[in-house]
Amino acid sequence: MTGPLSAPGWLTDGMRHVWLPYCQMKHADPPLPVVATAGTRLHLADGRELIDGIASWWTACHGYNHPHLRAALERQAATLPHVMFGGLAHEQALVLAQRLAALLPGDLERVFFAESGSVAVEVAMKMATQYWLNRGERGRTRILSFTGGYHGDTIATMAVCDPEEGMHSLFTGLLPEHHVRPLPRDPDSLAALEAFLERHAGEIAAILVEPLVQGAGGMLFHDGAVLRRLRDLADRYGPLLIFDEIFTGFGRTGTMFACEAAGVVPDIVTLSKALTGGTLPLSAAVARTRVFDAFWSDDPMAALMHGPTYMGNALACAVANASLDLFEREPRLAQVAAIHGWLSAGLEPCRGLPGVKDVRTLGAIGVVQMERIGDLRALKRRLVAKGVWVRPFRDILYLTPAFTATQEDVMRLCGAITDVVRQGV
Ligand code: PLP
Repeated sequence: MTGPLSAPGWLTDGMRHVWLPYCQMKHADPPLPVVATAGTRLHLADGRELIDGIASWWTACHGYNHPHLRAALERQAATLPHVMFGGLAHEQALVLAQRLAALLPGDLERVFFAESGSVAVEVAMKMATQYWLNRGERGRTRILSFTGGYHGDTIATMAVCDPEEGMHSLFTGLLPEHHVRPLPRDPDSLAALEAFLERHAGEIAAILVEPLVQGAGGMLFHDGAVLRRLRDLADRYGPLLIFDEIFTGFGRTGTMFACEAAGVVPDIVTLSKALTGGTLPLSAAVARTRVFDAFWSDDPMAALMHGPTYMGNALACAVANASLDLFEREPRLAQVAAIHGWLSAGLEPCRGLPGVKDVRTLGAIGVVQMERIGDLRALKRRLVAKGVWVRPFRDILYLTPAFTATQEDVMRLCGAITDVVRQGV
């Protein structure tokens, strides 16, 4: 075991060549060198162990290194790691498509695979736009999305994120034009949205929203009633309704999918993140029958011309099937309900502390929103010193642990957050 200050050679040498996400590398602390993972723990090169409070951007819902996922991966690697999806098929992808169709509500039955969340959202946007073209309506080319939303970092998905608040504000005015409007959280803003739709309905291909939780845009919650109203508006004015469940899918908010809790069947849903239990990249855009039917034609130009090279990767699909096995066999949603109780109790002491603006929880998500966070870098260091991996951003500290986290894990995570908030951030 080396001392906490010594970094392994692969880190110091590699840092001269790697380009890291979401940070000003000139000033950022070097990333923490992880040498192993197990359950809810990250093991660092210097021997320290951290409890992971965010499950690697909400992916590792069964905890790290789950033996059932590993076995599925090893089996698949030995027989068929990957074949192209154009003209070839394999069992894991086709079984996964059937299982997702069976799990999702209504007639969300056609699964298009991709490799990242952003690409799934782009595919959903493309499906929605072409849906109208295939039906002979050429004017519906814009997406209506919402302030506070986050759908990815590619050019197309940046254009439907919050243009002002978000990290993409530098690109404002340079991206494809869509409409980003306030999310109707109360009846007044619903009237404003309806008036907007009345004026612009003919140019809108789809309404795009993260259901129940706007995640990376600030962990903002809204009610299922909002989603039911959006369904009504979409039905009244024509646009398709797309739910981006890349954050919320697979149990995070308490039900398998957020659309279930809201009692709404969107026209397209996007999935990724926890789809493979945090092991391999995989995503999907799943469409309702009426969307797919608009592409089913004698006209070759009506086909969806999209096909990421690694779509339907067999390793990723095998591990996604194994992840769904775990949702069937193990009490995952009951664990989410238990975690919700622990997060609510564990973060409650933050309420009323100086500088705390809001404390909120939903499913296995816990959020402490501050008036402001002064020094994010120092705050991250203080949390690591307390033995937890939590990645505060903007004005929030949040927890999205693995569903296998124990009460002790969750209480230690909440305790670390409460301590730093009490000491001042
Ligand atoms: N949509 C939502 C709701 C997300 O939370 C994310 C990622 O955080 C994305 C899309 C983009 O996914 P990816 O980072 O895999 O491209």
